[in-house]
Amino acid sequence: MIDLKNKVAIITGARRGMGRTHALIMAQAGARVAISDISLEECENVVSEIEAQAGEAMAFKCDVTNAEEINEMVKRVVGEWGKIDILVNNAGVFSLKPFVEMTEKDWDFVLDINLKGYFLMAKSVVPHMIKNNSGSIINISSIASGQVGIGFAAATHYVASKGGISGWTEALAVELAPHNIRVNAISPGLIDTPMIDVIKENKEAEKAVLDKIPMKRAGKPEEISYMVAFLASDMASYMTGSNVVIDGGMLAG
Ligand code: NAP
Repeated sequence: MIDLKNKVAIITGARRGMGRTHALIMAQAGARVAISDISLEECENVVSEIEAQAGEAMAFKCDVTNAEEINEMVKRVVGEWGKIDILVNNAGVFSLKPFVEMTEKDWDFVLDINLKGYFLMAKSVVPHMIKNNSGSIINISSIASGQVGIGFAAATHYVASKGGISGWTEALAVELAPHNIRVNAISPGLIDTPMIDVIKENKEAEKAVLDKIPMKRAGKPEEISYMVAFLASDMASYMTGSNVVIDGGMLAG
């Protein structure tokens, strides 16, 4: 039922994991999708998957910390498809490091990708949305953001970045509402992507997390992507500034 026909989307971090399923599901709903990540070849594989389902997609090598690469991608998407309706800020990195061992370099690496990367993408895309008086921005945050009743040790940089995204989403939603641009966040719980290999490698740590999830399993990437597609669509026309938690009941438990 979700209809994204005639809509153009850019998705970051889309070569694998949730970014890939956001792209596949949005293309199934009719959107033309720009698949971007740091590896062009793997983005091209996702484009092939979409084309095999008769969808339309383009691949881009785009590091979200690099404003030049971002601006070049945005220029090419607008040149080719005429506009940008949807931005999915999804690219992110996660690492475990105790605070006492954390260096300034570790901190900057995570904050530059997870938080500044979202800012740089929006800076480049929003002027085109303002021109069309229409747009939907979906920021992938996390329940590891603080202010939700659970704390995450050994990932203070990641938590700071996700807390930043959640607050930034609200502020940007208020600022862009007069331009008919909606800005929402999704906060996933534990989702089965390569990002959580670091948790799965440690069976004790994996069990400890699963014990906290009432549904006793990690989510599947597409269980987040359906919400991305919904928020991108006109069905969510009265939603802005929201942060949708999808976590198998973890926060409720
Ligand atoms: P993933 O499989 O690791 O996908 C993230 C993608 O982003 C990877 O392809 C990654 O490439 C790419 N990326 C990293 N740095 C980039 C950069 N500078 N520019 C462009 N792309 C870059 O992880 P995922 O689980 O699908 O994560 C998607 C989003 O969901 C992230 O924002 C993550 O924080 C969030 N999230 C995940 C979970 C979870 O449990 N999986 C839970 C809550 C929120 P490299 O691997 O080469 O770095």
